[in-house]
Amino acid sequence: MDPEQARRLITDEPSYDWGFGEGRSCSLCGANIAYQDDRDRHTRWHRALAELLGLGWEDLSRQQPADPALAAAVDAVVHPRGLRRLSRIATASEPWRAIPDVPLGAHGTVTLLLGAPGVVVARSAGAGRVEVRRGVVHVGGHRTALADELRAAVGHVRTTLGRGRHREPAVCGVVVAPDGLEGGDPEPPTVLGASADGLADRLALLPEALGYGELEALHDVARRSTTWGG
Ligand SMILES: [Zn+2]
Repeated sequence: MDPEQARRLITDEPSYDWGFGEGRSCSLCGANIAYQDDRDRHTRWHRALAELLGLGWEDLSRQQPADPALAAAVDAVVHPRGLRRLSRIATASEPWRAIPDVPLGAHGTVTLLLGAPGVVVARSAGAGRVEVRRGVVHVGGHRTALADELRAAVGHVRTTLGRGRHREPAVCGVVVAPDGLEGGDPEPPTVLGASADGLADRLALLPEALGYGELEALHDVARRSTTWGG
């Protein structure tokens, strides 16, 4: 077996074919799994093997976010309150999930938000007045390359999460301005802009793009450190 193929077989988290909500066969080794309990035990067995061989992965969705301002904006998306929460229940759309501080190498560190519209790559503009002029993000009166950097990060995330799937997922970026934002989206539809308070409302306007079971599968891949070369 090709070593890269072998490494992937060990480091990947298994998934189980959907068959009326019950797992049937392991995506990695093909073992036949009849019950939920067996499935949990089988997943742990795969993880233990990866651990033992020094190829284990870290669950990025469990880490503490490093940027408190961005984390608060993201929390309002993942845990909607009041009317926003009620409207989500009424439309029965899937709740958003967040993965903080995903290391994208040369593309910097981003927070990933996964929901029915697809994947949103979020980066904070940092403190200061944020203004979008002719597609360029200005922070504290200075031009920045934030929109271009984010567009490159979006491309990287789309390619990485699209690997091994029949089509690439819908991915866009959002510049989050903790102290408010003027001027709208830097480069729609690839890169959007939102104030920290307005992030949940901005994302609520995105059209749904993922099919049944796709969000779960994407989240499984995106939260593994090994997906991003960790
Ligand atoms: Zn297996």
